[in-house]
Amino acid sequence: MSAPTLHFTVDCRQPGYHVYHMTLTIEHLPKGKHTLTLPVWTPGAYKIEDFARHLFDLQVEVNRQPVEVHHLAKNQWGFDTFAEESQVVVRYKVYAYELGTHGNHLDQTHAYFNGAHLFFLVDDYKSTPYEVAIAAPAGWQVSTGLDRVDNQPFRFRAPDYDVLLDSPFEIGTHRLLTFTVDEKLHEVAIWGHGNEDAQQLLHDLEAIVKAQRDLFGGLPYDHYTFILHLSDRGTGGLEHLNSTTCGTSRFAYKPRKNYRRVLRLLSHEFFHLWNVKRIHPEMLGPFDYNREVYTHLLWAMEGFTDYFATLTLRYANLFSVKEYLNVLADNIEAYEKKPGRYVQSLAESSFDTWIKLYKPDDDSPNRTISYYLKGDLVGTCLDLELRHRTHNRYGLDEVLRRLYQRYGAHNIGFPESVYQETVEEVGASSFQPFFDQYITGTAPLPFEHFLNYAGLTVERRYKRPDHDEDATEQSSQENPVPWLGIEAELREGQLIAKHCYTDGPAASRLNPGDRILAINGYQVTTLEELQHRIVLDHHIGDTVEVAFFRRGKLESVPVTLSAAPPDDVKIVPVKEPTPDQMALFETWLKSPWNS
Ligand SMILES: [Zn+2]
Repeated sequence: MSAPTLHFTVDCRQPGYHVYHMTLTIEHLPKGKHTLTLPVWTPGAYKIEDFARHLFDLQVEVNRQPVEVHHLAKNQWGFDTFAEESQVVVRYKVYAYELGTHGNHLDQTHAYFNGAHLFFLVDDYKSTPYEVAIAAPAGWQVSTGLDRVDNQPFRFRAPDYDVLLDSPFEIGTHRLLTFTVDEKLHEVAIWGHGNEDAQQLLHDLEAIVKAQRDLFGGLPYDHYTFILHLSDRGTGGLEHLNSTTCGTSRFAYKPRKNYRRVLRLLSHEFFHLWNVKRIHPEMLGPFDYNREVYTHLLWAMEGFTDYFATLTLRYANLFSVKEYLNVLADNIEAYEKKPGRYVQSLAESSFDTWIKLYKPDDDSPNRTISYYLKGDLVGTCLDLELRHRTHNRYGLDEVLRRLYQRYGAHNIGFPESVYQETVEEVGASSFQPFFDQYITGTAPLPFEHFLNYAGLTVERRYKRPDHDEDATEQSSQENPVPWLGIEAELREGQLIAKHCYTDGPAASRLNPGDRILAINGYQVTTLEELQHRIVLDHHIGDTVEVAFFRRGKLESVPVTLSAAPPDDVKIVPVKEPTPDQMALFETWLKSPWNS
């Protein structure tokens, strides 16, 4: 008996209704009970999303006759066939009005979808090829990582279900730019307009591709597609096997300070084609789309991707050494502000991502640490430690290369213990204390210790709002400034306490959601006013009266100001670097010491 053939049609010809009309045609389906199962999550976004909530009007015909459909679970339907081989046609509709890189969006301007929103797994045919035909409004084109069938513009083929779900589609009148590296076509599909310089973007993407290719020694795909959404939303991305979707604000491309974030996003998502899409623990592919999959290694998958994203921007000469070190300093500052760094380890942060990082609450900074942020910093420290121990012969990139050669290139996941073993093999020594302290433990990262290998150290200072920008003195000072220990935000014109840090003086007195009104009886209406009243008019140890509305009732509490954490962190060279320190700096950052 031949294997069934599986063919989806995605009809988006009535985009104003935000509904895809889906048809799944199955030929040669053998006799028996059958299931249609829609994923509850999509890889890269570790959150149960229950895409089936948008699905409606499901009908099944077997050999042209309507049959009874059994709703077996929230995301699963069943039907029976009685002939030895049957033709089955499944029709259903999916509402699509969630913009976002993980999302599913159909409107008058385009169709964008991730396969997990639309494509059923038929029985357990995971390794069977799936075909997709797109029916689009006149004048629309399709960009996706999937291969075309016979070069037809609207027909695509995935070798298996995992690749089908790993290939988002952008369909519309988007701009399509291209460049080639190693004779491989790279398409850039841009939906939306803003203050981007498309030619600059193309140049920078090519530089990123080349720098990362050089790090791994080749490009493991036939073609690559960047899907770029410019809208009024924030920054985010999702990685795929030979494509990525990145979303940015329309106006994220100027000034340079904002564009640096765009470059880091693009570099991060591209680096993922190796790290996590090919180099990954066993749990991260092939996937179970029906439930959470647990790994302790997301710090290596996401944090190290962040680390190499910025480092390869440096290697591509898109970031200067100063820009690179400023990103590192900002990360150190952010990490040292989070009380959660003493509570949650990186391994736990990874394992619990489904219920913590992807479901944050007001108290998250006190109890959790991001595996992106700390993972990036651990990557920095581990790279420097490896370079130091191997006398500058190997760095963390060698760990990734070996994992790629042994597992990623063969499309197999590794057991979790392999990560530390490979680090120890490259470093030719034990890294047990390093892993115990910084990965499974919550010991604070001693940045000075690791940066000293490269002749660098950390300077922690404090900004004062009364600094005179025209004066020549330093923009910050060594003396801490007073603080309340809360992070406030302006919400619809109201000053609201967002986070109350457990190591701050107001932790047990102010609550998230309190609407701050006055300090010592004087009204504060903006973040700046609040900061000025605390920092300019008071000293550490002073007690101030904070007035606020809590659930609509006027309240007031005294708070004794303590010292704020540093908010002006810089990486600076040590005074008299040794030749070893300079050599390590130069190989690590691919830049002369004096640059
Ligand atoms: Zn990522």
